[in-house]
Amino acid sequence: MHKFMEQIELIDHHCHAVTNQDLDRATFESLMSEGDRAVPGCTQFDKPLGLMMGKWCAPVLGLAPHADPDSYLSARKALGAREVARRLAGQTGVNLMLIDTGFLAERLYDCNEMKAVTGIQTKEVIRIEALMEEVARSGITSGRELALAFVETLGARSAFASGLKSIVAYRTSFDIPQSRPSETEVFLAADEWLRQLADGTSKRLEDVTLVRFALWEAGELCRKHKFPLQLHVGIGDRDIFMPKCDPTVFAPFIKDMEDWGVSITLLHCYPFIREAAWLSEVFSNVYMDIGVMQSFAGPFAKKIIGEAMEITPFYKQLYSSDAFGLAEMHYLGAALFRKGMAEVLNGWISTGDVTANKAEQIATAICSGNAKRIYNL
Ligand SMILES: [Zn+2]
Repeated sequence: MHKFMEQIELIDHHCHAVTNQDLDRATFESLMSEGDRAVPGCTQFDKPLGLMMGKWCAPVLGLAPHADPDSYLSARKALGAREVARRLAGQTGVNLMLIDTGFLAERLYDCNEMKAVTGIQTKEVIRIEALMEEVARSGITSGRELALAFVETLGARSAFASGLKSIVAYRTSFDIPQSRPSETEVFLAADEWLRQLADGTSKRLEDVTLVRFALWEAGELCRKHKFPLQLHVGIGDRDIFMPKCDPTVFAPFIKDMEDWGVSITLLHCYPFIREAAWLSEVFSNVYMDIGVMQSFAGPFAKKIIGEAMEITPFYKQLYSSDAFGLAEMHYLGAALFRKGMAEVLNGWISTGDVTANKAEQIATAICSGNAKRIYNL
């Protein structure tokens, strides 16, 4: 399977763009971490992800494998941000990247620049909470006006997107009422949030009623455009309150979207990989990936991929890198997914659980076939 997986078409259904800036060591290491405080005297290179950068990325920058971090970062600086992005994010063998443009966009290449730098096709996925914040800061004066402008703006931008994404797990957790709020509830909540934005007591969208409103409007648009709603699940930075990030808690909303024929794609999922696998089994509209975990797990990528493969139907799994900021994460996401999946399927072939031919069909579905089907590509 290794040769087959090295050449297989990949669609990265969830990633972010690459930074357009040259990075000093502290900034580079902060992008290697989900934490926001460095430990004095310690380095992010001292974890599996750091080993993978040395093994896989150093040769792409012209260094020997496992070059030390200082040499690695000097080589990176000498090449410049654009050349590093071209070499690493441009040599993943990915055919299409669906890019979440809703987080720290000002520090990253936009979709068109990513395509120009990497030579890879890109399409946009819109983060609904970020869009509502953008609308709220555009001179809106009443809750009613905010709600109507959000619906109009999201509708207009969706026409050019490939999917919508929610970070409800971050902003309110999954443990919230999930029914559609009434118009009156939405207008009142929006009035109150605008007041809080104005007096500085709120910096971002965290109101449960407004997040629910955004989710249901997004569901309507996903139904109309026949593309998925992505949900962040599990691993992320410390803003996540992990005990309430279990996606099975969100089953009522998922079920309502199933009735509408809207696909829900669960992103990252760690440590709720088995919960996501179960949801994929019982709901016809649920899909999952283990994005970013193959890069974080490094030598254990095979274990993480194997956990997703335990019971998840093959027609419900997707590939993503969830790369953010560092071109290395695009490169490692693809390389380690190819390797880990080859190892899992080779194991199954060696025990006679699958034929080589069927293993190739499974890999093709997960790497690109399922994404083409549900994203209407
Ligand atoms: Zn992401």
